[in-house]
Amino acid sequence: MVLNTVTSSHPLRIRVAVPLPLHDCFDYLVTAEQYTNLEIGSRVKVPFGRQQCIAVVMEKVPPNTPQETKFKLKHILEVLDPSSLITQKVISLLKWSAQYYLFPIGEVVQSAFPTRLRQGYAYARTAPAWKVIDFDANEKLKRSEKQRTAYTHLLRQIEPCFETSLINEGFSLPTLRALEKKQIIQETEKNIDFSAKPIQLAQIPLTANEDQKNAIDQILEKQDTYQAFLLDGITGSGKTEVYLQVMYDVLKQGKQVLVLVPEIGLTSQTISRFRARFDCHITLLHSGLTDVQRLHAWQQAQTGQASIILGTRSAIYTPLPHLGLIILDEEHDLSFKQQDGFRYHARDVALYRAYLEKCPIILGSATPSIDSFALVEQKKIQHLTLNTRTGNAVLPKMHLIDLKVSPKVHGLSQYLIGHIKQRLQQQEQVLIFLNRRGYAPVLMCEHCGWQANCPNCDAHFTLHTQPYQHLHCHHCGLIQVLPPSCPECKQETLKPIGLGTVKVEDGLKELFPDTEIIRVDRDSTSRVGSLEKIYEKIHQNKPLILLGTQMLAKGHHFPYVTLVAILDIDAGLLSVDFRAPERTAQMIVQVSGRAGRGEKKGEVFLQTLRPDHPTLNTLISKDYRVFAQQTLKERQTALLPPYRYTVLVRSESKDEQKNLQFLTEISKNLQEISAQHLEIWGPIPAPMQRKAGKYQAHLVILGKERAHLHYYVRHWWSFVLSQCPTHIRLSIDVDPQELN
Ligand code: ADP
Ligand code: ZN
Ligand code: ZN
Repeated sequence: MVLNTVTSSHPLRIRVAVPLPLHDCFDYLVTAEQYTNLEIGSRVKVPFGRQQCIAVVMEKVPPNTPQETKFKLKHILEVLDPSSLITQKVISLLKWSAQYYLFPIGEVVQSAFPTRLRQGYAYARTAPAWKVIDFDANEKLKRSEKQRTAYTHLLRQIEPCFETSLINEGFSLPTLRALEKKQIIQETEKNIDFSAKPIQLAQIPLTANEDQKNAIDQILEKQDTYQAFLLDGITGSGKTEVYLQVMYDVLKQGKQVLVLVPEIGLTSQTISRFRARFDCHITLLHSGLTDVQRLHAWQQAQTGQASIILGTRSAIYTPLPHLGLIILDEEHDLSFKQQDGFRYHARDVALYRAYLEKCPIILGSATPSIDSFALVEQKKIQHLTLNTRTGNAVLPKMHLIDLKVSPKVHGLSQYLIGHIKQRLQQQEQVLIFLNRRGYAPVLMCEHCGWQANCPNCDAHFTLHTQPYQHLHCHHCGLIQVLPPSCPECKQETLKPIGLGTVKVEDGLKELFPDTEIIRVDRDSTSRVGSLEKIYEKIHQNKPLILLGTQMLAKGHHFPYVTLVAILDIDAGLLSVDFRAPERTAQMIVQVSGRAGRGEKKGEVFLQTLRPDHPTLNTLISKDYRVFAQQTLKERQTALLPPYRYTVLVRSESKDEQKNLQFLTEISKNLQEISAQHLEIWGPIPAPMQRKAGKYQAHLVILGKERAHLHYYVRHWWSFVLSQCPTHIRLSIDVDPQELN
């Protein structure tokens, strides 16, 4: 429908972002009718070079604006969305993100759309659903519990059930497919009804304690304005209860709540707590969904149908018409920072989004990041604390075990083994943490000292024994067979050195032959649903040993674990990265926080060669907050982030010399244009100089004022990209979290 067609003395144009690594937007011609009807944020199909692509309208060039370029402009080919699918606030967020992270706008814009829409598929009016066709199949499903529960669930539905709802309930697509194969259920398409469902309480809220009440009141006071809160509560202090009570007030007004958690593994636990409390529409957004499921889940959020949107990092760009609150749980977690490509930090993007949306945001953690504490110091975030564990639970007591003097068996000190035995005898659960998967981190010749190293990287091969013996480089992925004897001295004296989770598992099996041992790491949980199975076991009140990597450190609730042991904390303490003590402290406190969450008191054992290390001692004799305050002071004295802002340029090439030479040149260039405003470190070889056959080098740029840093770096960076030789791969990381 065209009401008033525009007229213009120059051809009418729109400016679009194309899905390519290009920092500029491009102009295309449109008809007067298209110009009038098109909205910013709509998808259009355009010709680009010899290809066609799905672009997003970022701007309508005002009529009568003379054309800047001499190039002959092309017409758009097709309008895919008559009205925009994303909100204007999300468009502002995308533009800001591209500017802030110096990343091509065309690629940043992709973050706001699910894959299907990026590929040019239409907005869906129907979505996959499942219905029962065999109403008497119980007999056939005797042996598969999963299939039987899914079947029983579907039997109870009057209408076909959306696949996304089934996934949210914890059923998996392979289970559904298996039932389909047996001709018990059938896939169909169901019309999507986007009307929102009113929210109701399914469970009476707990009576908040004083700290919780104070936090809830303070947040609700700022309900209709932008305000950031740091909910700093020790593990088990009831942060989730604070979220739930604040959410209820916001949801009651018909607004949406966006909740971000660090990883998929935590979504199922969180969703069941939300479900238990609220009867309302919840949608899950994470990378484990198929493209079609993700589109449906995204549409539920985007139309306002879903009241609670629970997701991982990338959900921060989801358009939400009625957003009223953002919650980032475990805000210190590194998973919120994307570590390749578009290197945004979901926490910082979320803070800016809350500001744009004029709504409150809660950052919650038992070990808040030093960056967030700095924002508290600058009065940009309001600090709320929860100081006691709820109920009878108290924080576990920590013990240091000096490995220099304590005899070890299978990597565990005798002292620790004694304590584990005792806990198991009392029918309690034990958690053993080791952040190294595989059998052993090094394979060495005892005779001549030869070590198995990756030919492509400056790194040792990790020895794996499962599913067969092999060497695996965790940096480039190379896999090799084990040499039968030492390649140098030909002796058969190759020996695994150091501990991996599999080796510890073998040792534990010998030490505790009658106890169930569950290993949780990336190798043991690669199969879908295996984590859920493990959690089920942990929640049965039976003695067992849980052994695993950082997958165990995050937010999980293990009510029967009373002893936690961290086998090797020294790697973190010895790292050159100035953030290493912060990460190690967070890891120790988070892992420790898994102990003693139930009725029984917990204990934590830390094995180390450095029992005198200041980080460890502050944590043990004081607590994380004291550690954080000390760390802030140290960073301030050393003028390190967050007291200076940083940008890290990474460059890699097969040619080491040319790589360093190029970085030297561009570094000089930046020095000249920025005068004394910035400090530049490097070029310095990366901590791992050679990775996958390429030499890695860094340039670290520091500035006291964020505005200065960004101003100079932005101008410099476009020049750098135009000068970059083809054999060098460059990337830029604004506010880097890791210097590797
Ligand atoms: P956190 O997220 O801070 O680690 P949780 O929210 O998981 O802590 O709370 C720990 C336990 O305490 C949960 O089992 C929760 O139900 C319980 N809890 C929280 N708040 C209260 C309260 N006010 N009264 C009683 N129990 C509570
Ligand atoms: Zn040898
Ligand atoms: Zn390698």
